[in-house]
Amino acid sequence: MSSTELIDFHIHVGDVSAMRADIRELVIGMAGRRDFDLPRLFSSPPDLLAYLKEEGVTRGVLIADEGPGVNFAPTTDFVCDFRDAVDPEGTFFTVLGNINPNRSPNIMAKHESDAKRGIAGYKLYPADHDFHPISDELMTFYKQLENEGKILMFHTGTTGQEDGVDELGEPMLFKPILDACPNLTVVMAHAGKPKWCDQAIEFVQTYPNCYVDTAFMKPEMILTYLPNLAEIADKVLFGSDWPVGVRSLSGHVQQIRDLGLDDKVLDKIFARNAARLLGL
Ligand SMILES: [Zn+2]
Repeated sequence: MSSTELIDFHIHVGDVSAMRADIRELVIGMAGRRDFDLPRLFSSPPDLLAYLKEEGVTRGVLIADEGPGVNFAPTTDFVCDFRDAVDPEGTFFTVLGNINPNRSPNIMAKHESDAKRGIAGYKLYPADHDFHPISDELMTFYKQLENEGKILMFHTGTTGQEDGVDELGEPMLFKPILDACPNLTVVMAHAGKPKWCDQAIEFVQTYPNCYVDTAFMKPEMILTYLPNLAEIADKVLFGSDWPVGVRSLSGHVQQIRDLGLDDKVLDKIFARNAARLLGL
């Protein structure tokens, strides 16, 4: 793994025109200040692939989101189709599927169908999709993911959805999963920001398979949210949350490089940790 590797662990795709107004505003409200054509890249597999490569990304994790804010459009199947349109072998794109229990009451059946598409795991959004992350069926599902060696990412921290429930993003809610599934890779996306970063940091320090990502963190805020980042560098994944909050992807990466962190720390965050989780 060379230092030119750059794995973005948190990328969204979908259809801007299908978004609900509040989320469209959140995602494209920065019009004019962005250096890329968001609606086109967001929906075009070849254009997104070319763009990410130009920006220096060497592998990208695409994340499904079957939630109300995006009108349930970027399903697991949608995102797998997006990948398969340009990269059926998955040499560049990795997919994290999504299950929204309010849409898919039979979670294990949904998982069985998703698994056929070739996914590395899931991202679940309790706060955005309004469900509690602990139930008997969900715990069975998490155990299954642990047995399969899959990745389980949660949205943690507050939510930008007008009908979201911030409290369902508190990292402490996920502790029973960490305790019950010690071998499951759990990624706390956004590290519980802005309110609960201390909890997320404690979990990555306590649980060997718990990670955080940097998604939707302004580069200049990363060391505010994760003040001991150098100490927990083995447990932090770079995720841009593209296109959300990103004005320039390569600029965003450069701003992180300019934070004054050790090269070894940057290498872990930008590539090494993700490569290990993805089995590269
Ligand atoms: Zn995201």
